[in-house]
Parts: sequence; structure tokens; C-alpha cells
Amino acid sequence: MDEEPERTKRWEGGYERTWEILKEDESGSLKATVEEILFQSKRDRIIKSCGQIRLGMMRHLFVVIDCSRSMEDQDLKPNRLTATLKLMEAFIEEYFDQNPISQVGIIFTKNKRAEKLTDLSGNPKKHIGVLKKEVDTVCVGEPSLYNSLNLALQTLKHMPGHTSREILIILSSLTTCDPANIYEMIQTMKSLKVRVSVIGLSAEVRVCTILTRETGGSYHVILDESHFKELLLTLHVKPPPASSSSECSLIRMGFPQHTFSSSTDQNAKPSFSMALLDGTNDPGLSLGGYLCPQCHAKYLELPVECKVCGLTLVSAPHLARSFHHLFPLHVFIETPVENTPEKRFCESCQGELKDKRMFTCPSCRSAFCVECDHFIHDTLHCCPGCIHCQRTP
Ligand SMILES: [Zn+2]
Ligand SMILES: [Zn+2]
Ligand SMILES: [Zn+2]
Repeated sequence: MDEEPERTKRWEGGYERTWEILKEDESGSLKATVEEILFQSKRDRIIKSCGQIRLGMMRHLFVVIDCSRSMEDQDLKPNRLTATLKLMEAFIEEYFDQNPISQVGIIFTKNKRAEKLTDLSGNPKKHIGVLKKEVDTVCVGEPSLYNSLNLALQTLKHMPGHTSREILIILSSLTTCDPANIYEMIQTMKSLKVRVSVIGLSAEVRVCTILTRETGGSYHVILDESHFKELLLTLHVKPPPASSSSECSLIRMGFPQHTFSSSTDQNAKPSFSMALLDGTNDPGLSLGGYLCPQCHAKYLELPVECKVCGLTLVSAPHLARSFHHLFPLHVFIETPVENTPEKRFCESCQGELKDKRMFTCPSCRSAFCVECDHFIHDTLHCCPGCIHCQRTP
């Protein structure tokens, strides 16, 4: 009986002690610890992203969206379908921003069937327009994994070997209704090097685990809407590493210049854009546009594959933006700042490097501060010091 209060006292004492340590530590150094952890995780990511050698730059991706009855669930607001379609719009914009020479197609699956909403194409506006129209779609029946995979495969198997073939499935239902053996389909996917990834909205399903494991994709089940968004934008926007067996190839590309014809020009004649062959949102007659350098067919938007001669038409700045996926910027070497009498400054922001770490570019020996190191690797993707050296030899 007597021991009881003793133990309580000891426990309380222990508790007070840890609290005191926290207090003694001051909020300043606690903040420093948190900052240190954040810094290390960012640094790890930079090192990891630089380690990847070759990424599949030309991607062909089919997004399969489950439209079965379970998509009416309201755990995502206002319901799963509306939330998914909204996130898909953001995903498609981001995808084409990072992968300008890639293509996307959308498949809906409901009522044991799969339906192709948009064919593979590199025009984000077209996909987003279709997604916007589908908000009122009725969610019925069960999805069919087999039919969706089969429908996507019919197009993907004709894509050239140097491109990456991918399927991303947003699965809400816990069941699937398949007309044939899905495990045979998984083997077919594997042999044709189609990478299948799944984002589950309810719970883990075994068939998806096998499907993604066999084909080299990823499988995640969302926790909430923000996690869903994070999964889409961090895992599926960046190109996946190209498989070592995929062929290398030179791709012929055209860089058309925009030709303007002002309305005051009497000789200017409006013409049709070749994009109207798609049948969707026909822009009608227009004056300016991009002319294919090979066959002079006119387009209003880039990137696009020329309908007449098959040439891939892109804008040079767009292509340059995806260039860093092929040649990632090397990791800067971390060194402590020496305590020398003369001050050292970050060569990017000109801030003083005082009792801080600095990061040195291995090729031009320029030193940068932590913030600039992150900015250079995350956003800029090229070393300002190296560019300066090239300009002033
Ligand atoms: Zn052409
Ligand atoms: Zn700086
Ligand atoms: Zn450099």
C-alpha cells in the first residue's frame, strides 16, 4: 500500500525532468532540431533524384477511373467521383507541364464495362474538357479491371518500344467483374512491359497488389483527400525510370514557329487547323497558327503529332523543361564554412555564409547557401555558376 504513492512520485518526477529538459533546451534549439530533420529529408530527396540515371521521357499513360456505385460514397467531399475528377484535372495539367512530349488517355469503368473517354493524345485541354463534362456521370454497378486493362492494352501495345507504357487505375470498388482470368491478363501486361499502378480509395485489394507487383507499378491506398492529391502529384507526374531493356531511339521532332497574320493584313486568309480532324472542340477558321515544318499543316496548339506527316511538333522551351529528367543536376558537396577573417557570400543570393553550411558545385566550385541549393535542385535544374563560367570563359 505504501509503495503506491512512492511510484507515482517517481513517475511524476521523471515526467517533470523530461519537461525541464525540454524547457532548458529552449524553443530555439528545438526549432533547430525540427529544421535539421526537414533539411535532411530534403537533402535525401535531392540526392535520390540525382541518382536516377535515365527516365522515360516519352510516356503513354492511360488513366482508368472507376465509376462504379461505390464512387458515390461521401468520404471524399462532396463525393468520391467529383473529388477524383477535380484532382485528375490538376494532375493532367501538371503531367503535361512536366512531360510535354507525352500522351494521356482516359478510360471509365462501370457496369462491368470499360469505355474509352479520350484516346491517347498530347492535348491537355481536350482531356480536361471531357473530365469537366463527366461530373454528372451516373455511377452504377461494378467496375471491370480486366476490361479496362484490355481496352488500354489495345492501344498501348502499338506504342513504340522506346516509350514508356503505363496505366494508372483509380479504384474505389472492392470488387471487380471480369469476363476472363485476370492473372493471364497480368502476365500479358508484364510481357508487354506495361507498368500498372493503382490508387485505392477504400482498402487494399489482393488482385491489385499482384497486378502492381508483377508489372513494376506502385500501389497505394489513400488516407484522405490531401493524401490522394499528394500521391497523384508526387508519384505519377514525374517520369518513371526507364527500364534497362527499353530501346534507345532518336526521335524526329519539329519546332514550328508561330506565324501571326494581323487582321489589318489584306492578304491574310483564314484557314482551318488540322486539329479539327479530332472532331472535338472545333475552333473553325483562324488566322495565325503553328505550321508543321515538314508539310505545312496548321495547328493552333502545341505539342501535337502532325495528322498529315506524323511528325511530333513541340515548342523548344517546352522540350527544354523536360531536359533535366535526362541529365539531372549533380549533387552539390556539403562543407562547413571555415572561420576565415574575410566573409564568404552565397554566389546565388549574395547572402553571407555565416556559421552555416555551404554547398559547392563540383564543376564550377561556386558556393551556395542551403536555400539556394534547394531552389537550384528543385526548380532551376541548372547551376548558375556553371552557366556564368560558360558565358565568360
Ligand atoms: Zn506535318
Ligand atoms: Zn543563397
Ligand atoms: Zn556549377
